[in-house]
Amino acid sequence: MNILIFGPNGSGKGTQGSLAKKKYDLDHIESGAIFRKHIGGGTELGMKAKAFIDRGELVPDDITIPMVLDVLKNSSPNGWLLDGFPRSIVQAQKLWEALQADGVKLDFVIEILLPREVAKNRIMGRRLCKNDNNHPNNIFIDAIKPNGDVCRVCGGELTARADDQDEDAIDKRHNIYYDATTGTLAASYYYKNLSKEFGFKYIELDGEGSIDDIRATLMAQL
Ligand SMILES: [Zn+2]
Repeated sequence: MNILIFGPNGSGKGTQGSLAKKKYDLDHIESGAIFRKHIGGGTELGMKAKAFIDRGELVPDDITIPMVLDVLKNSSPNGWLLDGFPRSIVQAQKLWEALQADGVKLDFVIEILLPREVAKNRIMGRRLCKNDNNHPNNIFIDAIKPNGDVCRVCGGELTARADDQDEDAIDKRHNIYYDATTGTLAASYYYKNLSKEFGFKYIELDGEGSIDDIRATLMAQL
C-alpha cells in the first residue's frame, strides 16, 4: 500500500498520516528523514545535497528525487506513506515519472483541505501545558480551548512555542503550500488529475472538522 499525503502546516496531517500508517503498517517517510538518512549515511547523493545545504541553497530536484526513490524502494514490503514531498508541481511530475519508470504503484493520495487563515490560527493558537505535553490546548479551537489562561485538562501553566509564533516563517511555508500554480497545491491537483486515468484513489478530507470526524472519514475511505 503506497500513499501520498498533502496538507498545510496546521492541518493535522501528522495525526491523520499516522492513522493511515498504523492501519497498513507502513513506513512513514517524511522529507526531513530522507535528507538525514542520506547525509548522515554519507552517500554520494547525500554529500551532493549537503554541499547545497551548506551554501544555504535549495537542493536541486535531480538530487532530491533519486534520494526519495532510494528511501521508498528500501522501505517496508507493506509499503509507504510519503509526507512532505513533493512540494512543487515540478517535483510532482518528476516523482510520478520515476514511480512509473520503476513500476511502483500508487494506491491513495490524501489531501487535507483547510483555509489558509484557519491553518495559520491553528498553529499560532497552540499552547503547551508545562505539566504534560499530551494535554492539547488551542486558543482558536473551541473543543480544546484553555480554561482562561491555564491548561483545560490539569490547570497547569501554559506556554507558546517560539516556532508557532513566528508569523514570517509560517507565512513562508504557507506561500509554498497554497500556491496552486507551481507549489504544493499544484502538486496535489496534479495527482488528482492523474487519479482518474491511473485508477488510484484521491481522498479529500475537510480539515475543519474535529480530529475524530476526520479520522472516521479517512478510515471509511482507505
Ligand atoms: Zn495540563
